[in-house]
Amino acid sequence: MRYDNNFLSQDKTAMQQHFHQAESTLKKGALYVVATPIGNLCDISLRALAVLKNADMIFAEDTRVTAKLLTAYGLHRPLFSIREHNERSVAEKIIQYIEDGKIIAQVSDAGTPAVCDPGAKLVAAVRNAGLPVYPISGACAAITALSAAGIESDDFYFAGFLPPKLNERQKRLAELNQQCCAVIVYETPHRISGCLKDIENMMANRKITLARELTKSFETFLCGTASELSAILSADKNQQKGEMVLIFHPVEKTQATDIPLEKILNAVIDLPTKQAAQIAAQITGLGKKELYEQLLKMKS
Ligand code: SAM
Repeated sequence: MRYDNNFLSQDKTAMQQHFHQAESTLKKGALYVVATPIGNLCDISLRALAVLKNADMIFAEDTRVTAKLLTAYGLHRPLFSIREHNERSVAEKIIQYIEDGKIIAQVSDAGTPAVCDPGAKLVAAVRNAGLPVYPISGACAAITALSAAGIESDDFYFAGFLPPKLNERQKRLAELNQQCCAVIVYETPHRISGCLKDIENMMANRKITLARELTKSFETFLCGTASELSAILSADKNQQKGEMVLIFHPVEKTQATDIPLEKILNAVIDLPTKQAAQIAAQITGLGKKELYEQLLKMKS
């Protein structure tokens, strides 16, 4: 895909005016942390393009991936690699460039840097050196999935990737099941079937949304219990492909019991407080933390 480069260079439309405004407000001697699209190349902000057009250097997780994005927009800036293993050492050079007044951009392969991607170490080093860091907001797979999943939720818990090893994944899922709010995790195609089996064993009734290939041609949202999703994935192997986000829906209040809370808390009060709060949370669907505090009050 190639885009007409004119709107980046000619001063004609309102869009161009906004682009030039974004360019004119760029500050020299700063690090810009730039979010890039998670699939659809059009999902990039004018500010992100302004930074990428004017950066003296762009530091990327994989320069080949970022080169494609830059080429699509007719941008040609010096590209360098920064990955998890060299983030700290490259940071020293970047600090020097920023002190010399350069505009430095950092991008990851897709989405927002530092969200399950490199970025945090560089930002911490630049901030520790007392130099400015500016975020350029944009796509993030977790937020994109949540925004279109139809989940009414004031709060959510983002857990990143589940551990790859079976035992650790099961342990982590048991912990996450204690959360009553929406829980968002990243998964990979080769682990999704096993993961859904574990979820089925642990939270058979909890609704799950599987958001796949977001913003791309085969974008799909599936919603159901883990066993319902497993059945869909087994019947259609294509549903196991691509990039995916899982959302465990908030624990529905209708699943909670009619037994008065006081009665439940009295039944568990002799147990260690943490365990008592956990059990009460499972029965009532209320938050562990608030139950823990209530139990402490009752004990005192
Ligand atoms: N920094 C990225 C962000 O802001 O979301 C996340 C990078 S992480 C290395 C990659 C994971 O994000 C994938 O394995 C997948 O779980 C999720 N992801 C990224 N792009 C996605 C997409 N288009 N659709 C669904 N999930 C996606």
